[in-house]
Amino acid sequence: MKQFILSIDSSLALIAVLINIVFALLVLFRTSMTIVYRTFFFICLSTVIWNLGDFMGYYTAKRSWFYFSLIGTGMIPALMFHFISTLVRPEQKSSFWLVPLYVLSGLLAMSSPLALFDAGIQKFVESFVWNVCYLFLLAPVFLWAIVGLVKAGQKAGDEEKNRLRYVLIATLIGVFTGVTDLVQVLKIPVPSLGHLGTVVYSAILAIGVFKHRTAYDILAQTRLKLEALSDMAAGIAHEIRNPLSSIKGATRLLSHELKNFDNPKHQEYLGIMTEEIERLNNILINFQYFTKPIRMEKELISVNDVVQKTVKLAESDTLDIGMRVDLSGDLPLVQADASSIKQVFLNLIKNAAEACGPEGELAIKTEYSCPWVKISFSDNGPGIPAELLNHIFEPFFTTKATGMGVGLAISRRIVDAHNGRIEVRNLLPKGAEFSILLPAGG
Ligand code: ADP
Repeated sequence: MKQFILSIDSSLALIAVLINIVFALLVLFRTSMTIVYRTFFFICLSTVIWNLGDFMGYYTAKRSWFYFSLIGTGMIPALMFHFISTLVRPEQKSSFWLVPLYVLSGLLAMSSPLALFDAGIQKFVESFVWNVCYLFLLAPVFLWAIVGLVKAGQKAGDEEKNRLRYVLIATLIGVFTGVTDLVQVLKIPVPSLGHLGTVVYSAILAIGVFKHRTAYDILAQTRLKLEALSDMAAGIAHEIRNPLSSIKGATRLLSHELKNFDNPKHQEYLGIMTEEIERLNNILINFQYFTKPIRMEKELISVNDVVQKTVKLAESDTLDIGMRVDLSGDLPLVQADASSIKQVFLNLIKNAAEACGPEGELAIKTEYSCPWVKISFSDNGPGIPAELLNHIFEPFFTTKATGMGVGLAISRRIVDAHNGRIEVRNLLPKGAEFSILLPAGG
């Protein structure tokens, strides 16, 4: 009986090898090989290595094939992360976690061929420690992938939802069946379903990828366009900056020169000029966050200090809103870039002021909610219509006649770069609350 199950299992491994070779060839010859296809290609390749190693190991009974198969298995978490992140965050050039994940996956993958030459490494690969390390790598990637896919699915239109559903189902099957393989070493009595799972998840993933080829091509084009657009915007912002500082300087000098004429009209016009220059300047500052990869100079900072400084700045900026600040007395420090965090707070205060009008009240509160330092901004404005809640963080989404729709998108980028979270909810009876959660201590 055992022999029969083994032979079925090895046949499944062979089927997985064959279909993944076909998928890889299809990707090579029938697609534009943009990033989605490239990562899918490498997923197929890793699956081939993994299953070929197991199949050959079964027939030749040579241990070296087992080590060969682990090269493929080892690379799957990073590739899966890469593939899914290009789908759920097409606007992002690359994720911060990509490099560390490839390094860790690469280390696990490469430890297995090295086991042929080094007794210490061999002990590591043969013991359950390798599997535990792999599970530790796979578990966060898996959770992130599920949450990312579900969240992206909620925001998506029908076609995209369908596309993401294939990936979600394939991921769930792949990980679930893969884990049944990994726990064998712990002698847990569950059937090893890895190869069966590979056949099923590869097929589902391939159907999803090839069925939605047009969508993936559009996605890749959008990505390229966004990159070109962001380069162009960065160039324009750079070009505008110098003349703008000259105009600013000249306005200051002019204001000085015209002082003696004591003409109220002069001051009024100069006031408009200064205000508008400041507005342009703010647009440039926001664009800088939007177009360049965010460069952070992180250090241990007190969030309370940043809140106080920002509130002072907002008051001097004549933002028309009453602010009430409630700072926690025992707030841990956070590892953050103070000026970027200030920019986020300023964006939220500015939005609240614009949403509430002159009667506006904004409560700013800091608190420690382990492991987060939480900063909440609760206003008494009209709140955000439920159907827009999922869209307000998208670049260029605005409901204001003169809005640019980049403030919240930038704020989210900055908070993401701190491994934090930004959340929003409507308040009762009215108002909106934005909360920033930053990891305490960094
Ligand atoms: P902009 O301010 O240029 O519109 P943002 O990205 O800052 O761009 O905001 C996007 C949208 O989110 C706003 O147009 C508005 O509809 C909504 N919004 C943001 N903050 C609030 C708030 N405190 N209350 C109500 N709506 C808000």
